[in-house]
Amino acid sequence: MTQAEEYKLREQICETGRKMWQLGFVAGNDGNISVKLGDDTFLTTPSGVSKGDMTPDMILRVNSIGGFYEGDSELKPSSEFKMHLRCYETRSDVGAVVHAHPPFATAFAGANVPLDQYGLSEAVMCLGSVPVTPFAVPGTTGVADSIEPFLCDHDALLLMNHGALTLGRDLTQAYYRMETLEHTAKITLAASLIGGLKEIPRDKIDECCELGRAMGIRNPGYVKYRQ
Ligand code: 13P
Ligand code: ZN
Repeated sequence: MTQAEEYKLREQICETGRKMWQLGFVAGNDGNISVKLGDDTFLTTPSGVSKGDMTPDMILRVNSIGGFYEGDSELKPSSEFKMHLRCYETRSDVGAVVHAHPPFATAFAGANVPLDQYGLSEAVMCLGSVPVTPFAVPGTTGVADSIEPFLCDHDALLLMNHGALTLGRDLTQAYYRMETLEHTAKITLAASLIGGLKEIPRDKIDECCELGRAMGIRNPGYVKYRQ
């Protein structure tokens, strides 16, 4: 990858952070973003800064043992990079990971309610079923361990009592999934006030799943039915 290409990715990470902050997906220093550059090289947001106010020089280049090489930067890699790394180690198809605390999705995570109703076609096609993973203290290796059993079958996860995590082949896809996740949570909650989402007919769910698979969803919701 050329320096110019890497710089563009750094800019995209900053732009994604800005969007998440503007949309209220993060507050304070919430959230983190990473992108895979090569076999053992990644870009990650630094720890403890607002993701709405980053500049390309603040983005850190790191490797899998947590080493980072950024000259005289005072910044440290995200405390959740271990969680991101587990995604890359478990899924070779993943090129970017986004973590945020969007209020509606995080409400489902806090209430331990998965988003797996098959009530919205876009959610089935672009997100797949979204489980709630067991609680682990933020920033610890426990978070990586808690998500691992779910990674093979899901592209979006709700982290119990914490927030949300999305994976994608690139940053655009991982970020779109975060938007779709929050949008789905918002609609699901609104629908619950007026009788709840009605399930898409079973044969049409399968059709939506096929479309989702064609669009790159790892598992567009089959998990629930195949068990
Ligand atoms: P960092 O600022 O270390 O990335 O942590 C934010 C966060 O959301 C922790 O879960
Ligand atoms: Zn978090």
